[in-house]
Amino acid sequence: MKVKTRIEDLKKKLKEKSVVVVGMARTGMAAAEFLAKVGAKVIVTEIKTEGELGTTVHRLRSLGVELELGGHSPQIFLRGDLIVLSPGVNPALPPLERARVEGIPIVSEIELASWFLNPPIIAVTGTNGKSTTSSLIGHILSRWGKKVFVGGNIGTPLTGYLLQGENADYIVAEISSFQLEAICSFRPWIALLLNLGEDHLDRHPTFSSYAEAKRKIFLNQGPGDWAVVNDDDAAVANLTTEIRAQLLPFGRKWRGEMGVTLEDEKVIIYKGRGDEERFPLERVKIIGMHNAENIMAAVGAAKICGVPREAIQESLESFAGLEHRLELVGKWRGVSFYNDSKATNVASSIRALMSFKQPIILLAGGRDKGGDYSSLREVIKERVKALILMGEAKKKMKEALQGSVLTHMVEGMEEGVTLAWKLAHQGDVVLLSPACSSFDMYKDYRERGTTFKEITLKLRK
Ligand code: ADP
Repeated sequence: MKVKTRIEDLKKKLKEKSVVVVGMARTGMAAAEFLAKVGAKVIVTEIKTEGELGTTVHRLRSLGVELELGGHSPQIFLRGDLIVLSPGVNPALPPLERARVEGIPIVSEIELASWFLNPPIIAVTGTNGKSTTSSLIGHILSRWGKKVFVGGNIGTPLTGYLLQGENADYIVAEISSFQLEAICSFRPWIALLLNLGEDHLDRHPTFSSYAEAKRKIFLNQGPGDWAVVNDDDAAVANLTTEIRAQLLPFGRKWRGEMGVTLEDEKVIIYKGRGDEERFPLERVKIIGMHNAENIMAAVGAAKICGVPREAIQESLESFAGLEHRLELVGKWRGVSFYNDSKATNVASSIRALMSFKQPIILLAGGRDKGGDYSSLREVIKERVKALILMGEAKKKMKEALQGSVLTHMVEGMEEGVTLAWKLAHQGDVVLLSPACSSFDMYKDYRERGTTFKEITLKLRK
């Protein structure tokens, strides 16, 4: 039987099937719980041991889920009629190969969830800006009076939403390339592709395989659906040729009949036949050109949903932005401190640096994700007066940026912030925008950002 036919069969008869869930982090847990709730026979296989996992294990056991902890045995994958992968699990994992040969469908958690979701899905993907744009769309729709669930990669996974009992008018789903890699029938009503930069090259072997995964967001769309795509981004434009959904491009350079653009600090949506709506950005709190791009995309999605102009404008102005994304921590002695800990790749740090006119003292570094740091050279030369490097990647970064700016190497955040404070003059910006992941020194980017904020706040005294 073909995988697609098997999937159709599974959708109808999940109750009678065995499902292997690979990986037991937040998303895998939600998927396993959901599957147990619909009556499937669930087997979870996880690398971590019972000791490392703690009490979560009991909850699954109490639901009748069979657990294999401390490693994946190859045979276990063959016991499933279906295999569900957590986003953290690489689909190239060797034991999955045999299952693939046997024709067992291997899907991601969003694919599984989509079989049961009723509200229209607005799916947001891209290298950067997913969380900001998803939250902004959610904010606009809820200020308009709709019940919205915003989740997926941020907050609650989609199967977690199903567990809560469905009641949303719209689902806004932030979707990572890992989740898209293993979809079959996932079909969003509106799919947004914000941009494509280098990221996760530690997991995706090449840029084109990463781009291919992102392209899948459009795979099952038809003419009644919408694709909101960044027209300024050449890598995105390359992927749009085979899209069957209606295209709504956005971009600063875009000009045409129907699309969203930016002119004189205003987002303008052209709705065709000369009809347009304007959204001034003067009172909008989130700063930088990258956020203007996120706003263009969100306005496009909101107009497709039919939100009136006034409601969108009010929502744009009341949106405070998200923690750890160009977040203003405070300003003391004329020096502004910004926490951009979520900038875990080179592209996002470039955008952060472009958001300021003032001289910048940049704190960067962390765990290397295989990005090309030399593409930071130009913007650093232009805008950064001192560069402070920390973490595992600091040597590699220093070499790549050799000669572009005065560079200091430090052991950690405390030393870095103290040095930045010493170097800063009135009117400067101290910016944490690491261009690397946080896992060398912190649990995640949140812990890194919180540490930066705590140390920074102590300077006030
Ligand atoms: P994601 O969920 O895709 O990681 P976020 O909204 O959390 O995106 O933002 C992550 C980082 O990327 C932020 O630190 C911000 O500086 C940067 N960023 C946000 N939007 C964009 C964009 N449209 N283009 C490039 N960089 C962006």
